[in-house]
Amino acid sequence: MFIIFSSENAELTYCLFRVSKFEKVCGNIRLKDKIGIFALLCILCMVHIVECHEISLNPDFDTHQSPYDILYILEGEEKHKLRESLSSLQFEVTQNDFTEPPYRNDYYDLKDKGDYKCVICGHNLFKSDTKYDSGSGWPSFYEPDGEVVERPDTSSNRNRTEVVCGNCGAHLGHLFKDGPEDKTGMRYCINSASLKFDKGGSE
Ligand SMILES: [Zn+2]
Repeated sequence: MFIIFSSENAELTYCLFRVSKFEKVCGNIRLKDKIGIFALLCILCMVHIVECHEISLNPDFDTHQSPYDILYILEGEEKHKLRESLSSLQFEVTQNDFTEPPYRNDYYDLKDKGDYKCVICGHNLFKSDTKYDSGSGWPSFYEPDGEVVERPDTSSNRNRTEVVCGNCGAHLGHLFKDGPEDKTGMRYCINSASLKFDKGGSE
C-alpha cells in the first residue's frame, strides 16, 4: 500500500494504490483542523500495521485486498454507501467539489421543459424556464427555483461564490455576476453531474 497526500487549508488529497493490482483510488477529504489530519494519518498507519500483522500470522492472507476497503475506513459507512450509489463523477462533483468538463456533460445544451433536481436528495433546484445558453459549456440558469445556499469559496486562490443544495449541501457549482442583464444579471453555473432532470416536471 502506498499513500500520497498533500494538504492545504485543511483539505487533504489522498491517493491509495497497490502496485500488485494496479488499482488506485484518489479523492479529497475536508478536515476541520490539523488534529483531524493527524488522526487520519494515525488510522492509515494502523491499517498498515494490522495488515502487516495479518500477513505475518497467515501467509495466505489476501494482500490484494481492494483500496476501497481502506476508503471505507476513511469515509465512514454513510459516505461509502453514497459512493456506491453514484457514478464516480457524480460523487466527486457533489461530495468533493470537483468540476466536470465543459461541453462534455449531459445538460449544458438541453432545451427540454422540466425541472432540474438535486441528484443526491431530489430537491427542486432550477426550472428549464430560467435556463439559458451562456456559452460556458455548463448548464446555466439566471435564478434558482428551490432553496440553494451561496457561500464564499477561496479555493484555487480565487474568490468565488459556491452554490450548494439547500437541502443536503451537495456541491452544485458557482454563481457569477455575468448573467443576462434583462433578467437577474446572475449566472448559476451548475455541473450536470449534480442534477437529475425531470422532463415535464411540475409545469
Ligand atoms: Zn440535495
